[in-house]
Amino acid sequence: MITLKEALKLSADEIKAFRQMLKVKIEEKKELNAYIGMDESGEGIPLLIKDNIQVKTWSVTAGSKILQGYIAPYDATVITKLRACGIAPFGRANMDEFAMGSTTESSCYGKTLNPLNLECVPGGSSGGSAAAVAAGIAIAALGSDTGGSIRQPAAFCGIVGMKPTYGRVSRYGLGAYASSLDQIGPLTQNVEDAAILYDMISGYDPKDSTSVEMDYTPVSENLNPERKLRIAILPHFLNDASAAVKKAYDKTVAVLKTQGHEIIETELLDAKYDISAYYVTATAEASTNLARYDGIRYGTRQSGNNLEETFVKSRSEGFGEEVKRRILLGNFVLSSGYYDAYYVKAQKVRRLIKEDFERVFEKADLILSPVAPDTAYRAGSLEDPLQMYLSDMYTISVNLAGLPALSLPVAIAENGMPVGLQLIAKAFDEQTLFDGALGLENALKEK
Ligand code: GLN
Repeated sequence: MITLKEALKLSADEIKAFRQMLKVKIEEKKELNAYIGMDESGEGIPLLIKDNIQVKTWSVTAGSKILQGYIAPYDATVITKLRACGIAPFGRANMDEFAMGSTTESSCYGKTLNPLNLECVPGGSSGGSAAAVAAGIAIAALGSDTGGSIRQPAAFCGIVGMKPTYGRVSRYGLGAYASSLDQIGPLTQNVEDAAILYDMISGYDPKDSTSVEMDYTPVSENLNPERKLRIAILPHFLNDASAAVKKAYDKTVAVLKTQGHEIIETELLDAKYDISAYYVTATAEASTNLARYDGIRYGTRQSGNNLEETFVKSRSEGFGEEVKRRILLGNFVLSSGYYDAYYVKAQKVRRLIKEDFERVFEKADLILSPVAPDTAYRAGSLEDPLQMYLSDMYTISVNLAGLPALSLPVAIAENGMPVGLQLIAKAFDEQTLFDGALGLENALKEK
């Protein structure tokens, strides 16, 4: 598959021919169920878009039955920005319902398969985006990351996935899961393409009140893979990781050392705090955000004898099991009597997590961390919800602290599946993140 950088150099005729070829390839890999829709009417470089990002005139369902039949009335800001760069939204990527999940098994369109082993999940919730890029049926894709949903599928499929600093990319037109955590970001074949796509979608947007108003310097034009950095490593954090992840981590640390980076051993707060704070915060925000899906305003309606019955029937039939579980949990932690004990406490813990990162960043430019405790799970193996929540232990603190992070493939485990690790940077220091990631990618190629 051509890279985004290469695609940007193609003529209009070449792009047309490429789109035809891409269609054939997508058809050949239909069994992956990575694409859930296609639009051939646009002109420009075809890109794959997760099903929770609005593209005018396209269906947008966030993988949920409740939104079926709903057509986006406007473009998300990221889509407007892409169009201005000669990119045309082309495919719809499958995802976990409302981006809640880590496996892309909960979509109303059925599960997505991992192209590297069809018995494994591609990760989630941006599993369709990651599987398509890894299978060579998308140049690149957009996903969203609330607690790891770009980085973890990227790691499971052996590609690059990047979550920008909170506030860097507009969320206008992104179906909200947990508004204080959600960010849109790129899933690509390599680090440079991730930087290019990240530049295209970034910047202040008055339509998103959490978007940060500051000057934007494009990172892709200033990439410097030779920079020597101070990189923090987290030996204790690896206790819960598989042997394959530990081995890949150690190997990567050795590579970073030979590159001439300074390695600093440190620790972060125990991940059990991250998981508790995340699942209280995310479900609380989700229960509020999902209140708008009542069968009246959007998507499908199941009519009852009165308004309340219509709400109840529409929501009972429209939402899947995991989404309902989270709405219940979220309403519980926000209810009077429990609000202080759970929600307020989670916000205090969140503050401590943020400060913990700030402490590490006083002496380090980047942190090297696992993305997931193991390589891609076998399909059906994460049915226990608690076990699924625990599997997010390495990704969610980054969202709680609002930091940028990039997951890149560093090794192939003995089971033949890729291992991805993430680099984490200070807020708004994407330049250092991409410099470090590109340097590491180059060094790994030389090995
Ligand atoms: N797996 C996490 C969750 O289910 C993260 C999902 C995401 O980033 N959208 O909440």
